Amino acid sequence: MKANVWAGRNRLEIEDVPDPRILNARDAIVRVTSTAICGSDLHLVDGYIPTVKKGDVLGHEFMGEVVEVGPGVRNLRAGDRVVVPFPIACGACFACEAELYSLCENSNPNAGMAEKLMGHSPAGIFGYSHMLGGFPGGQAEYARVPFADVGPIKIEDDLPDEKVLFLSDIFPTGFMGAEMCDIKPGQTIAIWGAGPVGQFAAASAFLLGADRVIVIDRFPYRLRRVQRTGAEVLNYEEVNVLDALRDMTGGRGPDACIDAVGMEAHHPTPAMYAYDRTKQAARLETERPYVLREAIMACRNGGVVSVIGVYGGFVDKFPMGTVMNRSLTIRTGQCHVQRYMEPLLDRIRAGEIDPSFVISHRMPLSEAPRGFELFKNKQDECNKVVLTP
Ligand code: NAD
Ligand code: ZN
Ligand code: ZN
Repeated sequence: MKANVWAGRNRLEIEDVPDPRILNARDAIVRVTSTAICGSDLHLVDGYIPTVKKGDVLGHEFMGEVVEVGPGVRNLRAGDRVVVPFPIACGACFACEAELYSLCENSNPNAGMAEKLMGHSPAGIFGYSHMLGGFPGGQAEYARVPFADVGPIKIEDDLPDEKVLFLSDIFPTGFMGAEMCDIKPGQTIAIWGAGPVGQFAAASAFLLGADRVIVIDRFPYRLRRVQRTGAEVLNYEEVNVLDALRDMTGGRGPDACIDAVGMEAHHPTPAMYAYDRTKQAARLETERPYVLREAIMACRNGGVVSVIGVYGGFVDKFPMGTVMNRSLTIRTGQCHVQRYMEPLLDRIRAGEIDPSFVISHRMPLSEAPRGFELFKNKQDECNKVVLTP
């Protein structure tokens, strides 16, 4: 089959790879009908996530048709249409019982590698490095889905792929980012990053009752897109973000701040950007935590900093004194997608939200490397790329 594989830093290639086969009783094979490129893929392509190897199949946002199931999968059969969540989870361990699916204790066969870097291992993730399981991803014609009796959600009505595909990741992720803010009526939520994840966080903050949502980015076309959710916007190349947020909130600061940017943040001040870039390039720190620092500084006393942007290792110049002295709460995680699929599908069905609003580009899987170029470099007003095998 054809798949989009990592061929080295900033190099992707469409290659012929072996068809996936059922390996365990609870596996299913899915013929992928739609898959997408995510901001998380960029961290892999740019070489910031360790243990990615030449030939690894990328992609963790996908859906399709079940073509084969193992004998342990009783709730699905060939022909079913499913959306697959990006964390792989067994459904029965300590973490899964607590609905912390991205922390499943049984799905990462390379847990030892992750333990060395992180102390304990999170769950396996499709197409997301060997440290997180080495599972071939969904930017391919077919994918093997472990624990298929737990993760995938069946789509039984005629909702088109584009309306349900993002249940695999970015809609639940944006929603969890907003949910972690414990939003109360009348509150103001600030969000860094007007990418697809930031856009879903903004839409979700309103669904959860936020009064005002303020989104920060520098690309006017993305800020225009997020304004459609009802959010106010700040262009950090035009204003000082901390001053502007203070002015907009009567001097107190937003009630909660969401980091929807992560480890590759861009910095408006050349000197600090150079500092983080150099340290990251020399592997002296693994992140460029500019947004994390700014979100912490901006948040009101006693507020919540919700981190859904992905980080890989170690941050430098972390303002712990601010966190401690101002009683801030930091909440974070890879999304526990399985927990949100059913309720968010209900919201889609009810017409409360149409997730296809984020799509800017549609192309065949064979053009995935070009899609990555556009998405990475924010060319041609690229916001979200959907690929069809
Ligand atoms: P994206 O690259 O499309 O968007 C990131 C946006 O951040 C860009 O528009 C960029 O201009 C903006 N940005 C960069 N520096 C900034 C700064 N200093 N201030 C404000 N904005 C800045 O990516 P995406 O697909 O929207 O994903 C966003 C993040 O969410 C990534 O880190 C991704 O890995 C992460 N993610 C996390 C989960 C999870 O489960 N926690 C799931 C999916 C994605
Ligand atoms: Zn993703
Ligand atoms: Zn589990």
